[in-house]
Amino acid sequence: MNVPNELFIGGKWRPASDGARITVLDPATAEPITTVASATVQDGLDAVAAASEALAGWAATAPRTRAELLLRVFGLMKERSEELAELIVRENGKALSDARGEVAYAAEFFRWYAEEAVRVEGTVQTAPGGANRIMVLRQPIGVSVLVTPWNFPAAMATRKIGPALAAGCTVILKPASETPLTALAVGALLDEAGVPPGVVNVVPSSRSGPVVGAMLADARVRKLSFTGSTEVGRKLLQVAAESVVSSSMELGGNAPFLVFDDADLDAALDGAMIAKMRNGGQACTAANRFFVQRGVVAEFSRRLAERMGNLRVGPGTDPAVELGPLVNADAVEKVGSLVESTVAAGAKALIGGTRPGGPGFFYPATVLADVPQDAPVLAEEIFGPVAPIVTFDDETEAVRLANDTEHGLVSYVYTGDLARGLRLAEALEAGMIGLNRGLVSEPAAPFGGVKQSGLGREGGHEGLLEYTESKYIALDW
Ligand code: NAP
Repeated sequence: MNVPNELFIGGKWRPASDGARITVLDPATAEPITTVASATVQDGLDAVAAASEALAGWAATAPRTRAELLLRVFGLMKERSEELAELIVRENGKALSDARGEVAYAAEFFRWYAEEAVRVEGTVQTAPGGANRIMVLRQPIGVSVLVTPWNFPAAMATRKIGPALAAGCTVILKPASETPLTALAVGALLDEAGVPPGVVNVVPSSRSGPVVGAMLADARVRKLSFTGSTEVGRKLLQVAAESVVSSSMELGGNAPFLVFDDADLDAALDGAMIAKMRNGGQACTAANRFFVQRGVVAEFSRRLAERMGNLRVGPGTDPAVELGPLVNADAVEKVGSLVESTVAAGAKALIGGTRPGGPGFFYPATVLADVPQDAPVLAEEIFGPVAPIVTFDDETEAVRLANDTEHGLVSYVYTGDLARGLRLAEALEAGMIGLNRGLVSEPAAPFGGVKQSGLGREGGHEGLLEYTESKYIALDW
C-alpha cells in the first residue's frame, strides 16, 4: 500500500508550510520508520478554509449519495485490510491479530454510518396548547475538528469521520503524532473512494496545542470531537468554551472488572483476557482494577497469571505474537513505576513486574495479587498489560470500590445471578456495562462515558446526532 506522508488539505497532498516533519518510530525497535509533514497553524487554518468551502456542497449532497460513498470506503478498507493492519503494527506496535481486529472494527463504522446517512429524521408535533405545530429538523452542525489518539489509529478516526460525513459535515482530522500514517492512509482511501476535495482533511502536527487551538478559535469551526486523555480533554474544553464550540469528549477510563463467587470462572477468565489484554492493555476500555470475591480470588488470580504468562511476547509483525511493545519509552516508564510502587505498598507480583532490557518499548504481562484497596495503581489509568487484583467480600463493598474513581467509561461484571448482574448494571457509574462479557466496543452501540470519562456518545444512532443541530420551526398551517 502506498502510504502518503504529507498533509491532505482541500483534496491535495502537500508538505507543511515551514517544511517541518514528524519522525515516526517503530515501537518494537525504537528505530525511525519514516517522517510525515507536521502542520503549522497556517496549515490548520488552510484546512479549515477547505472544509468550510466544501461544506455547503457536501451538506446538500443527497443522503443516498453520501451513503454510497461511505460504502465504497468500507469496501476499500476491507480490500486493503491486511496492508492497513501491517501499517498499524509498524507505527503502533500492537500484535497483528489486534491490528486485524481494529481494521475490521474501523471499517464497520463506514458501513454503519452509510446505513445511518439515510436516517437523519426530524419530528412534527402539535403544541400542547393546540395553537400551532412544532417542527424539528436535524441539520449538519458544520465544520468539525476531529482529534484522535494513537491507541486505535484507524478506528478512532473512522468512528468520527463516518458519522460526520453521514450527517453532511466536513472534517479536519488531527491524528496523534505517534501514529499519523494510519490516519493518512484512511484519508487516501476516502480520496480514492471519491470524497470531494475539502470534505476530509488530514493534518498531523507535533504542534497540536497551537494548531487545534487556532482551528477552534476560527468561527467557521462548529464542532470538536476529541478522543484522548482526560487531562488533554479538560484543556480542550476550556479552549472550545472561548468560541462556544460544541464538544464531544471520549476520555480516559479506569474500568473495574468484578468477579463474584457465583461466576462461571472460565468465562470470567476469557473475558478478563479480552478486557485486559486487547491492545496490550492500551485501551480506554481496558480492565484496570480487578475486584474479585474472596471465595474465588485465589483460583482466579492463579489462573489469570497462568493465562497472561503464556502470552507470546515480541514484535507485532510476527503473526504468532500476542503481546507487542507499548507505544513509547514514556509508557514503559509510567507502567514500570506504577507496578513498582504497588509492590512496595504490599502487593505481590504473581508474574512479570520487571522492566526488560533490550531494544523496543516492551513491558511484560504482570499480575499483582493482594493489592491494598488504597494503592495508587487503582486511581490511575495503567495503559499497559498489568492486572491489579483486590479482594472484596460483598456486593455493597464491590460497588463502593468500583465507583471510587473520577472515571466512568465501562464496568465489567461476572456473576451467575442475572438479577444481581442487572442490579449492579444500574448501580455502577459507567456509560457502558459488560455483563458476563469482556468486550463492549460495537459500531451499532452508543459508546461513551460518564463522570470525567467524557461527554456525548460515538457509534449507534447517537453518534450521528453528535454531528447535527436541532432546528425548531414554530408554524401555523
Ligand atoms: P492524549 O495525549 O490526550 O492525545 C490525544 C490527542 O490529542 C493526540 O492527537 C494529541 O496530539 C492531541 N493533543 C495533545 N495535547 C493537545 C493539546 N494541548 N491540544 C490539542 N490536542 C492535543 O491521549 P493519547 O495518549 O494519544 O491516548 C491515550 C488516551 O486516550 C487514554 O487516556 C485513553 O483512555 C484515551 N482514549 C479514550 C477513548 C474513548 O473512547 N473514551 C478511546 C481511546 C483512547 P499529539 O500526539 O500530537 O500530542
